[in-house]
Amino acid sequence: MSDDRDPVFPPRAGVLTRRSFLGHGAKVAGAALLAPALPGLLSGVAGCGDDGGGELPDPRPDHTFPAYATTPFTLGVASGDPAADGFVLWTRLALDPLATDTPGGMSADDVPVYWEVAEDEAFEKLVARGVETAQAGYAHSVHVTVEGLRADRWFFYRFEVGAHRSAVGRARTLPKAGASTDHFVLAVTSCQRYEHGYFASHRYLAAEADVDLVLFLGDYIYEYPDSDEERNLRHDLTPSPRTLDEYRLRHAFYKTDPDLQAGHLRCPWVTIWDDHEVENGYAGSVTAAENPTSFARRVAAYQAYWEHLPLRGAPPVEGVFQLYRDLVIGDLAQVFMLDTRQYRTVSPCGQIGSECPANVDSDILGPAQEAWLTGGLASSTARWKVLGNQVVFAEMPLVAFDGAAPLYNYDQWDGYPSSREAVLNAIRDHDVDNFLIVSGDVHSLGMGRVHDTADDVTTPILATEIVAPSVNSDASRVAPFEERILAVPWVDAFSVTVHGYARLTLSHAEARVDFMVVTDLGDPDAEQSVHSSWVIADGVGGAVQV
Ligand code: FE
Ligand code: CA
Repeated sequence: MSDDRDPVFPPRAGVLTRRSFLGHGAKVAGAALLAPALPGLLSGVAGCGDDGGGELPDPRPDHTFPAYATTPFTLGVASGDPAADGFVLWTRLALDPLATDTPGGMSADDVPVYWEVAEDEAFEKLVARGVETAQAGYAHSVHVTVEGLRADRWFFYRFEVGAHRSAVGRARTLPKAGASTDHFVLAVTSCQRYEHGYFASHRYLAAEADVDLVLFLGDYIYEYPDSDEERNLRHDLTPSPRTLDEYRLRHAFYKTDPDLQAGHLRCPWVTIWDDHEVENGYAGSVTAAENPTSFARRVAAYQAYWEHLPLRGAPPVEGVFQLYRDLVIGDLAQVFMLDTRQYRTVSPCGQIGSECPANVDSDILGPAQEAWLTGGLASSTARWKVLGNQVVFAEMPLVAFDGAAPLYNYDQWDGYPSSREAVLNAIRDHDVDNFLIVSGDVHSLGMGRVHDTADDVTTPILATEIVAPSVNSDASRVAPFEERILAVPWVDAFSVTVHGYARLTLSHAEARVDFMVVTDLGDPDAEQSVHSSWVIADGVGGAVQV
C-alpha cells in the first residue's frame, strides 16, 4: 500500500492557526476560517469540467438550496468508519452554533446538502457526488455513506450549500481484507475536556505526515464542569446537558474548537463513547423503569452523539445503538472497537475497593457483544488483533505493595473479572497471538502486560496494553500514585502529566508506539514532544522501550 501513500500533507490556506483564532473573540471565528465561501460551482453550473464529472451527473440542478447570508459549516466536517470501498462523511449545518432558541440557529426545514469526493485536492477528479438531506429532526446533521471507491486510497471531500462551501477534509479507504499491507498508522487518544485547557495535541495530529486513522476511545465531551476552578483554564459556555437540545449544544460547543476541527480534517476517525458523553460512571443496562431520569439522559445523549460524529448506520432508537464494530486493515490488523458502557451491569463491587471476587456476577460487554468479540478474536487471521476499548483492561492495583490492601477502580475491567476472563479464554483457547489492547479513560499514558496469571509475570503474556493519554483531561491528582503504579510488575510505563495521543505504527515485523505529548494545557501553542517509544515485536508479547 505504500505506493499510494501521500506525501506530507501541506497546510492549507484557511486552515487555522492558533493565532488567527485567538485574534477573534467569537466562538465561530475558527470555523469561519475553515469554511471560506468560495465563488463558483453554483447550482446549475456543471461542476467539474472535463474530468470524472462527465460520468457523474451533477445532482445540484434538481435541488433548491437555501441562500444563507453566512456559512452553515461552522462545526467543521469529518470522515469516519472507513471500509475497503468507502467511508462516512459528516457535517452538521449550524448558522449559529450556540443558539438556544433552535438547534444551531436553523429553521425547522430540512435542507439539501451537496457533497463530493475527489482523488485530488483541486476536485478535478471527482469519484463520487450527491445530495443528502440535513434533517431538522437530527439537528441538520448529515451522514453520507460513500461506497464503491477503490481500496487503500486517500480522497478529499467537501460539502456545499448554495454559495457556501465547507472546508476540505481527507478520508481514506482501507486495504481490502487479507490484502498484503505493509504499514498502517493509528493515532489513539481519548478524553477531551474543554475547561481543562486547549486541544493543542489535535493541532499536531492534524499536521502528522503519516497517520491513517484516529481511534478515539471515549469522553468526547464532558457533561459537567470540573468544580475545581484551578483546573478551569477555559470555561464551558453551555449548560450541563440533560435534554437532547442541551446535549446538542454541548457537542456544538466542543466542535467550535478549531484544533478539534483540524484533527477531524486530517483523516477518518473511528470513535467509541465512554461515560461522559452521557453521565459520569453510568451503567447502560439500568432500565428506564429502574432509573427513568438517567435513562432519559441516555436516550438524548446517544442521539446527540450520533448527530455529531461520522458514524455508520441508522441513528439510535430509544437509547439503543450498536456502537461496537470491527475494521479489517488488509492482512495487517483487525481492530475491534468495544462498547463497555451500553450493556454493562452495575459492578456489585462498588466504585473503588479491594479485590472484587473472581466469580462476581457482573458483565461489561453483554452476551451478544462478548460472543461477537470472542468469536472474532478466535477467527481473525490478521497479524495484529487490536482491541479498542474505553477502560483499563489489566488488573491494576492503584495502591499496592506497601502492606496495605490494594485498591482497585471497579469502573474498569477490574470490576468485571468474569468478562475479562472470557476475553482471555478466547486468547488462550485459540492461541491468539499479537493481541494489543488500547485503552483510555484514566487520563494517563501507560504501557503494560496482561499475563496468563495476572500477578505472575513469569507466566505467558496474553496481551500488551497501551493506555493512550488524554487529549487534555487532567489527572494530576493521581500524580502521588504514579510511582506506586510504576512499581506494579506488569506496568512498563505510566505518566499522568502528559497529554496527546499514542501513535501506533503497525507493520508485519512489529507494532511501534510513539507517545506524542504536550504538557502545558494552558498554552494553546504548547510544544509537542515524544515522551517515549516502544516496540512490540511480532510473536512476542510485551513492549520494549527503544
Ligand atoms: Fe475521561
Ligand atoms: Ca471515562
